[in-house]
Amino acid sequence: MPPKKVERGKRLTNLIQEHNGVKALIQGQTEEEISARFVVGCDGAHSSTRKILQMPFEGKSEGVSVMLGDVKLKQSPFREYLNLISNKNGLLFVAPFKGEYTRIIVIDLTKQDRHFPSKVDMNTFRASISHVYGESLEIEDPYWLSGLTTSHRHAASYRDGNVLLAGDAAHVHNPVGGQGMNIGFQDAVNIAWKLAYVIKNNFNPTLLDSYQQERKPIAAEIIKKTSRMINVISMNEPWAIQTRNNMMKLLLQRTLLQKKVMKNLSQLTHDYTGTAYSKHILKLTGKPAGVRVPPCLIVTATWENINVYELLRSGECLCLVYGNEHFFRKKQTVLQRAMETFNKECGNILRPVFLLNNESREKLDESENVFIDLYDEAKEKLDLQLYDVLVIRPDAHTLFHTSIRNVEAVKKALNYYFR
Ligand SMILES: Cc1cc2nc3c(=O)[nH]c(=O)nc-3n(C[C@H](O)[C@H](O)[C@H](O)COP(=O)(O)OP(=O)(O)OC[C@H]3O[C@@H](n4cnc5c(N)ncnc54)[C@H](O)[C@@H]3O)c2cc1C
Repeated sequence: MPPKKVERGKRLTNLIQEHNGVKALIQGQTEEEISARFVVGCDGAHSSTRKILQMPFEGKSEGVSVMLGDVKLKQSPFREYLNLISNKNGLLFVAPFKGEYTRIIVIDLTKQDRHFPSKVDMNTFRASISHVYGESLEIEDPYWLSGLTTSHRHAASYRDGNVLLAGDAAHVHNPVGGQGMNIGFQDAVNIAWKLAYVIKNNFNPTLLDSYQQERKPIAAEIIKKTSRMINVISMNEPWAIQTRNNMMKLLLQRTLLQKKVMKNLSQLTHDYTGTAYSKHILKLTGKPAGVRVPPCLIVTATWENINVYELLRSGECLCLVYGNEHFFRKKQTVLQRAMETFNKECGNILRPVFLLNNESREKLDESENVFIDLYDEAKEKLDLQLYDVLVIRPDAHTLFHTSIRNVEAVKKALNYYFR
């Protein structure tokens, strides 16, 4: 299907759910009606989709008013990734980006509630920064400036019939750690391949229920952590401020810890190992499912380096079989046929990938499905043993990991996940 264009200046005004699809009413210069099998509402915190569904958006205002912006610092006294200054006047957070810009977030305790400016401009921003920092910082060229009063809210459900919610439409939290965009991306990556499997391969739409099962706990955790953090950040008792500052100083000055915090904030530490499916698989195989697959360099049969992620771009689940040259010489045709039969039975779930261990220095053949783990990266990072089979979802999480001898368990697991 050719990619669709983003059409600006058009607004969703209503949705009508039908037996096997949704009708969307769109208002542009004229009104139009679009029929689709599914609608994903990625329309932000004030989502029309969510309101049309009358989906509860549960949560509350946290009542902390924050000014923030990306600006250039003429002479930066800050050397760390994350810098936190906090005192009785408020809190200042400074994070220099790799380029010329620096993200500055300021909570000025004299500018709360009715004293919070209705519009943040450079003068109000500068004044509050100076008030908290104790001296003026030379800031200029704002890329953007903004002001908000923090809140957190979570949609009661991410799916109602053929309509789904993703990104800020499904969850909002305060800006501690700047995590809103990444969580939305990961929602999108989680739901996109499932929708494709349902629409293109005719899978049962119950597959879409795993979207909420996997993503909602992650949003709930981020909401919990960020609202705890805002409480810590906005404390105004002098002894509490002192204790917090001492701890923050200790923690944030450690580069390793900073890297860990950054990894956590970028949400690369989240995975789906806590779901009922993963626990079921753990019982079946002794290995969890839903583990995030890290980037791994392997080589093609024509000796070109390739990241495992490249293989996921086809949008299929990879069924990676790990073995040595001898094993594949004997078994490749059998394995290929087994997977073809399996795909026929189960509806083209799997793309076979044969990964030879790094003792295999001779080309097996130049098939596009044969790779060599030349640097042992896949073996180490994916914990592969000879004759393992590892099924990786298009969103780079494991669906299943066991020995090839346990093929019946693979079938059972896939039938459980895809019903
Ligand atoms: C000041 C500020 C700073 C932030 N900084 C960071 C940061 O550093 N890092 C980070 O990860 N996140 C940050 N965030 C959060 C991040 O911007 C959001 O989480 C993210 O943009 C959400 O993406 P989204 O696609 O879900 O929604 P949005 O970006 O809000 O996009 C929704 C889109 O839907 C459109 N829309 C709305 N209603 C309709 C309708 N009825 N019909 C058609 N279209 C409609 C809107 O016009 C908009 O284009 C920040 C947010 C704010 C406010």
